[in-house]
Amino acid sequence: MRDVLVAGGGLTGASLAVALARQGLKVAVVEAVAPEDPGQPSLDDRTSAIARTGVRILRQLDVWPQLSEPASPIRAVEISERGCFGSARIDADAEELENLGCVVRNRVLGMALWKKLRELKGVDIRCPVRARSVETESGSVTACLEDLQTGKTGSIKARLLAVAEGARSPLRAAFGIATRHAGYAQAAVTGLVQVRRVIQPATAWERFTPKGPMALIPAGGNRYGFVIVASHNEAAKLKDMEDAGLLAHLQELMGYRAGEFARVGRRAIYPLALSRAAEVTAPRAVLVGAAANNVHPLAAQGFNLALRDIAALAETLADGGCPPADPGSAELLARYANWRRRDQANVVRFTDALARLSGNSILRPLRGLALQAFDLAPSAKPLLARFALGQGGRMSRLARGLPL
Ligand SMILES: Cc1cc2nc3c(=O)[nH]c(=O)nc-3n(C[C@H](O)[C@H](O)[C@H](O)COP(=O)(O)OP(=O)(O)OC[C@H]3O[C@@H](n4cnc5c(N)ncnc54)[C@H](O)[C@@H]3O)c2cc1C
Repeated sequence: MRDVLVAGGGLTGASLAVALARQGLKVAVVEAVAPEDPGQPSLDDRTSAIARTGVRILRQLDVWPQLSEPASPIRAVEISERGCFGSARIDADAEELENLGCVVRNRVLGMALWKKLRELKGVDIRCPVRARSVETESGSVTACLEDLQTGKTGSIKARLLAVAEGARSPLRAAFGIATRHAGYAQAAVTGLVQVRRVIQPATAWERFTPKGPMALIPAGGNRYGFVIVASHNEAAKLKDMEDAGLLAHLQELMGYRAGEFARVGRRAIYPLALSRAAEVTAPRAVLVGAAANNVHPLAAQGFNLALRDIAALAETLADGGCPPADPGSAELLARYANWRRRDQANVVRFTDALARLSGNSILRPLRGLALQAFDLAPSAKPLLARFALGQGGRMSRLARGLPL
């Protein structure tokens, strides 16, 4: 019997599996789509902003040093409203930090995670295999598996099942966990764009515009990762627009703060919705990552929250013994859920409010004023900076840069 079975080997599942295997737990990972597959839904072409805390966790897991291309530091974040004077800025210098976080391509991070997983002893990797159903007994949980290459079925037993299937998790439903879903009637269009000349190095932008919000994050050299949030129709048009049209659109949204846009790469589209599980644990199961909380991407919080959850779960299990006698015990799971409740609720509330506020054109002048006020209020900045840095609530050892 395994100690922990991780269903889903995307960014969250692979990170959790690495954290637990490094503790000496017997871990199995079941992933439906091979990491090298161009259609892998988690380890794709997106660029992700990883907050300082997240970088510390990945460094402690010895994954960060394995990145095949260097991550790009973010030293400042500027938040502005198109057509308004108000803008707010969070600066690493002002916080006396080297940087606020780093940007990495999901595929690059995913490959580093899977390399680590394959190196670690005692990790049983099943891929391309789908977990189809689960059955819980008093001391264990059994998942029924389907090999997607051969069609053969089988099963695997573990003390704990970590569900890391992403936002539309079928196993979450199998555990009878109620989930709140709220569509934003929006989609995100993502891609890479090059500027002719970098004007403000290592700066990220969040920009509210009458057409919807957008974000730009530094992605190395003169490249930026962009996220444009728009209605489904508008997003579909932007995805298929010819390059010159999209470059002009980006320039119109951003102005020239980041420079003159010169080239734009392939784009992808993601429908946006909030989903939040009412409980993050069930008997012998824990939900992690987007399966627990899938949030709006504008504030770059989703995977960062998942990393803090993973670090807390690993620490809770480590405190239960080394290795714990029963990693799926109700007592350990309750301890974990209590620890993480507040940070998870704060991130959901913050990102949901931001999503709704950013889509509301009536509030536009207010947003400009609020940004100006924020920039002038010395007490507000460290608060938001802590949020951006990923320092919500009680910090785990990994998040503080300490070994487990
Ligand atoms: C446009 C956009 C930009 C974003 N930018 C940022 C950012 O800058 N910073 C940040 O912190 N977050 C960001 N996020 C959020 C982040 O991408 C998600 O939080 C993260 O991808 C969630 O990872 P996950 O592994 O939990 O779920 P997923 O990425 O959905 O992965 C789930 C995995 O499970 C597998 N799977 C599913 N079901 C099964 C099954 N039954 N059996 C086997 N395998 C299964 C899937 O194949 C997949 O590999 C962004 C999100 C979007 C949409």
